[in-house]
Amino acid sequence: MSIYTAIIIGSGFGGQCAAINLKKNGIEDFLILERRDFMGGTWCQNSYPGAAVDVQSLLYSIEAEPYDWSQMFAEGAELQEYTQHVIKKHGLREKTRVNSNVERIEWNDETQLWSVHVTGAQALQAKFVINASGPLSTPVIPNFKGRDSFKGKTFHTNNWDQSYAHAGKRVAIIGSGASAAQVIPAIAPDVKHLHVFQRSPHWVLPRPDRVFKPWERKALSINPIRKLARSAIYWGLESRVVGFKYSEFALKQIAQREAVHHIHKQIKDPELRRKVTPDFTIGCKRIILSNTLYPTYCRDNVSLHDKADGIAEINENGIKTLSGEQIDLDCIVYSTGYDATDGVISYPVVGKDNTKLAEVWSEYPRAYLGTTVPKFPNLFIVTGPNTGIGHTSAIFVIEAQMHYIMRAIQEVKNKGLGAIEVLPEAEDKYTTHIHSEMNKTVWKKGGCSSWYKSKSGHVVAMFPGFSYTYLRMAKAFKPNDHQLIAAVAKKQKRKAAVVETV
Ligand SMILES: Cc1cc2nc3c(=O)[nH]c(=O)nc-3n(C[C@H](O)[C@H](O)[C@H](O)COP(=O)(O)OP(=O)(O)OC[C@H]3O[C@@H](n4cnc5c(N)ncnc54)[C@H](O)[C@@H]3O)c2cc1C
Repeated sequence: MSIYTAIIIGSGFGGQCAAINLKKNGIEDFLILERRDFMGGTWCQNSYPGAAVDVQSLLYSIEAEPYDWSQMFAEGAELQEYTQHVIKKHGLREKTRVNSNVERIEWNDETQLWSVHVTGAQALQAKFVINASGPLSTPVIPNFKGRDSFKGKTFHTNNWDQSYAHAGKRVAIIGSGASAAQVIPAIAPDVKHLHVFQRSPHWVLPRPDRVFKPWERKALSINPIRKLARSAIYWGLESRVVGFKYSEFALKQIAQREAVHHIHKQIKDPELRRKVTPDFTIGCKRIILSNTLYPTYCRDNVSLHDKADGIAEINENGIKTLSGEQIDLDCIVYSTGYDATDGVISYPVVGKDNTKLAEVWSEYPRAYLGTTVPKFPNLFIVTGPNTGIGHTSAIFVIEAQMHYIMRAIQEVKNKGLGAIEVLPEAEDKYTTHIHSEMNKTVWKKGGCSSWYKSKSGHVVAMFPGFSYTYLRMAKAFKPNDHQLIAAVAKKQKRKAAVVETV
């Protein structure tokens, strides 16, 4: 049976960064497991019309992997190309098994190895597991009354059916969040009629996108200039935390005023303006950047149904609304998001003493630096609880996590140990701090319900502060927060002894 030093679960940017960093640290003996039949994660999976990043591409890219971006906010195809470029450059395809859905992992204290169970295949073993299965990877479709009775075409934006010709069809899109806001303008000109079912509106700001001029691309290919531009973008975005956390007044006076102005500039109809105006503070839910969403809502072939006129039931011909109207449809697109909180890891994880991660997280998911959990030695969660970021690039946080993960792995390897495990009191102190900081943020106080919150009401999908603060913490490895566990001889059937609480 193969035993790897590390198994990485997922091949998105999280998995790619983990693999690149393992290689950088001299660890070649690792395997990436990917459940899809292709590698790449978010941008290879989300191929819906209009898909594009909401963070400037110079920043939404791996720091050491610059790219000749064609525009400020890259679109889906270019993001896919970039992903494939990174995979190819680092030889990650050779390290990956696709069609490998991890269905369970278990820690064995006697062997000090993780058993990784893959659907339909023999279990694999690894000393370290890096879970990079993505918080926004497993789509959710609510159980609408009659959902399965619809006879037409249905799919989630996460699984866009490229073979379906939507032109000339009667289409409904359920949801009005970040993905829907990109799909709606992209397909509205082609479909016969588009019905948008919005549970609650999001605040929308103008999208400062533009195609780079040839001289700009040339300039950005010069490393110091690119670094300067990236840094300017980074600090510009980082300053938004002041509003999200420290000054609701500034948030309302600057960002919310601009959003209200955006509505008034683009929509004349007072009823439509009312429907798209949120009743919570801007930033509480993810802010949408779009210049085309509101003009699309104004089109004759687009109808926006708000909560009062929402879905009473789905039936075989389409959707019956709460106002009693029957809307016949050819296609229903679910843009109903993901479970980014309570479902952050979608497969069972069993740690020391048969401890189940789902039980540890039964109230809400929690982890030291959003990465490690007591009783789960040698397990690292990329984009784990409270590592999400609304104002800047998720890749920045992923790369920050790598400092901590690689340092912890090196600690075990360099000292010839068996395992590293975060101490419960360290995790508890960290999590208590995170949620006390969270109480100051708009995500907690802004008066909305959002996918950032777990069922318990804790905001789990976001880091409550500057991403720079997170980077600083991830870089400052604290040995005293961990226990280092001695290696046990391969055949020794005894529990690993704690030799050191450094
Ligand atoms: C539509 C969309 C738009 C986004 N826009 C932005 C943006 O503008 N800015 C930003 O910063 N972030 C954005 N994000 C967040 C995005 O998820 C992150 O930026 C980043 O791509 C996360 O990378 P990841 O590797 O953690 O997850 P993913 O890219 O989701 O990769 C996870 C991989 O793990 C695989 N996997 C999952 N479970 C298993 C399993 N059990 N076994 C094997 N493999 C498994 C999945 O198939 C997937 O390939 C967006 C996300 C989505 C969905």
